[in-house]
Amino acid sequence: MSLIVQKYGGSSVANAEKVMRVAERIVKTKKKGNKVVVVVSAMGDMTDDLITLADQINKDPEGREMDMLLATGEQVSISILAMAIHKLGHEAVSFTGPQVGITTDTFHSKARIQNISPRRIQKALAAGKIVIVAGFQGQTPEGEITTLGRGGSDLTAVALAVALKAKHCEIYTDVDGIYTADPRVIPEAKKIDVATYDEILELASLGAKVMHSRSIEVAKKFNMPIWVCNSRKEIKGTLITKENKKMEEVVVSGVALAEDEAKITLFRVADRPGVAAKVFQILADANVNVDMIIQNKTRTHSTDISFTVFKNELQKALKVVKTNAKKLGVGEITSDSNIAKVSIVGIGMRSHSGIASKMFSVLAKHRINIEMISTSEIKISVVVAGDKGKLAAKAIHKAFGLGKK
Ligand code: ADP
Ligand code: ASP
Ligand code: MG
Repeated sequence: MSLIVQKYGGSSVANAEKVMRVAERIVKTKKKGNKVVVVVSAMGDMTDDLITLADQINKDPEGREMDMLLATGEQVSISILAMAIHKLGHEAVSFTGPQVGITTDTFHSKARIQNISPRRIQKALAAGKIVIVAGFQGQTPEGEITTLGRGGSDLTAVALAVALKAKHCEIYTDVDGIYTADPRVIPEAKKIDVATYDEILELASLGAKVMHSRSIEVAKKFNMPIWVCNSRKEIKGTLITKENKKMEEVVVSGVALAEDEAKITLFRVADRPGVAAKVFQILADANVNVDMIIQNKTRTHSTDISFTVFKNELQKALKVVKTNAKKLGVGEITSDSNIAKVSIVGIGMRSHSGIASKMFSVLAKHRINIEMISTSEIKISVVVAGDKGKLAAKAIHKAFGLGKK
């Protein structure tokens, strides 16, 4: 008997009818002779709606209360889904994250899973039940409820698959798999049949919201295969797995567009050892995630440093650098939230040259100015003006021949 972990995203359980369809799919998997653990997200846009509600009450809510609120979304869907399975005449039991021993650190709204003790799940499985677990949530060792970051149900699913030694993890969503670009932005995008953990990790961290990036990190670490599939269709999705020789042939496998970052520039920063360390330490202490960083030495014994942060952390980041500007020897601080980051990803980039120049010349042809560049072995990212992001992504996607023929 194999154990399979399935995760259904919010769009797949958005209303009663969709919940019933998902329940049927789960029962079918069980009937094939599998043990089934299901992770489910909040129904439809419920998490967004809860955030809006909180915002109407308090613009700067405490992290603890926010997590307390957001975790309720998943509690609705697990109980409803269990009821749907009961209705079909099968046994199922729902659990919250804390109930199945998902322990996290104490960083509210972006907690990291530290441990899972799946005893209750194993007991329920042994009793022949379908187990349904709330995604996106856990609790600190002190018993405070935490959430794992937007889209975090993917992480719950992969972490449970690892803890339970599942055969693989199935992620069900509203598209046929992972595409060469977000099909909502670039309709010509194609479904990718198989991709490596590294490629999807890059795509996810670079803005392709189809998978939560830490879920891929965990899958990679424990070599847990992931299938990303359409919850409404019986067709093969995308397999995310470890690398094999053949995969290197594909130079660029996907394009990602991120419109949720903002740029901060520090002008005339003192040019001496330790300054950059201090700047990024105070940001780290404030728990601000920094993405791209560029430093440029000027001729006047000072440097200019630009970096990007998530838009929703821009005010926090500005506040800490402004408060510490004197101490850090920063001359002037500016910010720009009208930026977009466009990236290409592919493991074949390691063994092929001329990819960056091709990407940059496509941008030049469309008269799109590059504000920042960053690269790794398997990706190239550029920051461009916010209103040019979609055009840039489309042009690059086409130039690398990724669209449907
Ligand atoms: P769920 O609610 O199932 O977790 P998400 O909204 O988190 O679903 O993820 C699915 C969405 O991700 C798709 O509807 C699609 O618009 C978006 N997306 C972004 N980039 C990609 C990509 N490269 N491939 C597929 N989908 C993508
Ligand atoms: N409900 C959460 C969110 O909307 C978690 C998830 O969907 O994975 O971000
Ligand atoms: Mg998601």
